[in-house]
Amino acid sequence: MKNIKQYTIRQLTSILTDLGQDQYRVRQLFKWLWQRHELEFSSMTDLAKDFRRYLADHYVIQDLELIQSDQSADGAKKFTLRTSDDQTIESVYIPEGKRRTVCVSTQIGCPLACTFCATGLTGFKRDLSGYEIADQIQIAQSKTLERVTNIVFMGMGEPMLNLDSVFDALEIITSPIGMAIAQRHITVSTIGIIDGIERLMRSKYKVKLAVSLNAADEPLRHELMPATKGNSLRDLLNVTETYARIKGMVTFEYVLIKNMNDRIEDAKKLKKILHGMACKINIIPFNACPGIVFESPDVKTINDFYEEMLKSRFTVTLRRSKGAQIQAACGQLAGLASKKL
Ligand code: SAH
Repeated sequence: MKNIKQYTIRQLTSILTDLGQDQYRVRQLFKWLWQRHELEFSSMTDLAKDFRRYLADHYVIQDLELIQSDQSADGAKKFTLRTSDDQTIESVYIPEGKRRTVCVSTQIGCPLACTFCATGLTGFKRDLSGYEIADQIQIAQSKTLERVTNIVFMGMGEPMLNLDSVFDALEIITSPIGMAIAQRHITVSTIGIIDGIERLMRSKYKVKLAVSLNAADEPLRHELMPATKGNSLRDLLNVTETYARIKGMVTFEYVLIKNMNDRIEDAKKLKKILHGMACKINIIPFNACPGIVFESPDVKTINDFYEEMLKSRFTVTLRRSKGAQIQAACGQLAGLASKKL
């Protein structure tokens, strides 16, 4: 039987129209599924009994299966989830002040293979569907009993290589009949795929953009992230600037790696290439992962780099990733595969 959660609002509308149901039934059903997280058709009390029975005879309501949850002392929780084709993905719940953020995966594995990221080591299996992306949030909500306030598309995978599903997920996440999370509380992070950024910019969604820059010059960027070869840094900065103008503030992420991109000179170069742009810069000290040779710079080097960056007009943050203790921090998500490394 088909899982009814896999359908978009448009698809559900067409299914219910074929069944002779009124439009407002779509809204009722979608709310049961995505607002109230109802898992039984029989409990959907505002739908007619025989319609509920019809649905139960033809569809199931299925979540991804939670196979493991890990709690970190800093409050972060990692959820390992199994898809219906027996693959595993991970998502991370990060409470901080008033915010409760979920970091969602968009692909199973990742085809980009950045040299410093554990997800890349696992290879690429497939894209996630919109339902599989959004369901990660529902599971986090039901396991923590907290209402999630912010979403970051920064888990396993590259959102811009799976934009159709990202749009389907955004519909569920932002719709007033879905999770109703404010668009300004949502960030999509990318290695810097230009046509994807352009598509997101043209879309109806006004979400925040984060670009994983990680190096201030092209050769080093290509070395750290081989998938960026053939992409010009100039073009990337131009499209990002346009995005910032049209949709609001953009964040550049910069993973700080010992002896690779952590000198004062690198900080100066970074300030120079971003000069004049309305952006935030988020410095993320490298998180160690099994199978990856890089190391984090020492505390003094990190602080010196940060201090140098602060001598600018940019908003600069130094992110101490949560969840490192449970392999849930940036770049550490590798599914159960990490245990085999
Ligand atoms: N593919 C997307 C989203 C996933 S990566 C992207 O590239 O943006 C999310 C963030 O984690 C990126 O900014 C990436 O640079 C960072 N990251 C990856 N591996 C890391 C590691 N080992 N330590 C710290 N940050 C890492």
